[in-house]
Amino acid sequence: MDNLQWFMLLPAIVVTGLLWAVFLRVSLLWRRRRLLNTPLQPDYIEILSKYVPLYRRIPADLKPQLHGLINVFLAEKRFTGCGGQEITDIVRLTTASQACLLLLLLNRRTRIYPKLKTIYVYPDAYVAKCIESDGFLVVEGRSVRLGESWENGPVVLAWNSIEHSARGAHDGYNVVLHEFAHQLDQEDGQSDGIPLLENESQYRQWISVFDSEFDRLEALHRCVLDRYAFEDDAEFLAVATEAFFEKSIELEQQAPKLYQILTEFYKVDPAAWIKNDN
Ligand SMILES: [Zn+2]
Repeated sequence: MDNLQWFMLLPAIVVTGLLWAVFLRVSLLWRRRRLLNTPLQPDYIEILSKYVPLYRRIPADLKPQLHGLINVFLAEKRFTGCGGQEITDIVRLTTASQACLLLLLLNRRTRIYPKLKTIYVYPDAYVAKCIESDGFLVVEGRSVRLGESWENGPVVLAWNSIEHSARGAHDGYNVVLHEFAHQLDQEDGQSDGIPLLENESQYRQWISVFDSEFDRLEALHRCVLDRYAFEDDAEFLAVATEAFFEKSIELEQQAPKLYQILTEFYKVDPAAWIKNDN
């Protein structure tokens, strides 16, 4: 085939490629819609009821939506065991349910952690290679970690930390909520504590509340947030998310503005779940 023939075929190749891309997208959306409306298997619900106390706290009317998101998450994300970790339904469901809690009413039907393809799970704390720089010197070292979220997609977690986090639903420590809050933050390509919001005024309000609450809470002697929150803006959002779901009433009392803006972002009110339960 000479160059002229290739040139004449080019529009057909481009159109076929575009049609194929549209077909794949429509199939994905159709499959998601079906999964979002499919009830969760009863044995999966049993696992969640047994291993994830936070799941038990979610109001009954929100559960079908959470179940649908879990179906999509399990179908689209791959779990890979590292260091001998076996990937059981308990591992998958404990992780997926808490990750999906952050998406509950976000109306992100087409944005379910779009960059995330694989979750790597180690049995225990793992050693990661890290490169640090003080502006002059670049040092390559190793650090022990319980979880991390990468800007380009993967999440790495230690199973004993996932399990411990799920069990202690009131201690404000939850590695899954923490790392998946980073995923939401990183969706726009930056790890800066500012996730994708709906409009300009929301961005202005978010920055104003987060900046002032960061400074105010950092100065408190007894803060509801773990001190790790004050490492930087990205950690502040991740740790505040842990407290939002696990120390909801304390966060609402100590930092009402921060609690309110997180309520608007996650579109749920976990403090009300507790109050209504009592
Ligand atoms: Zn973090």
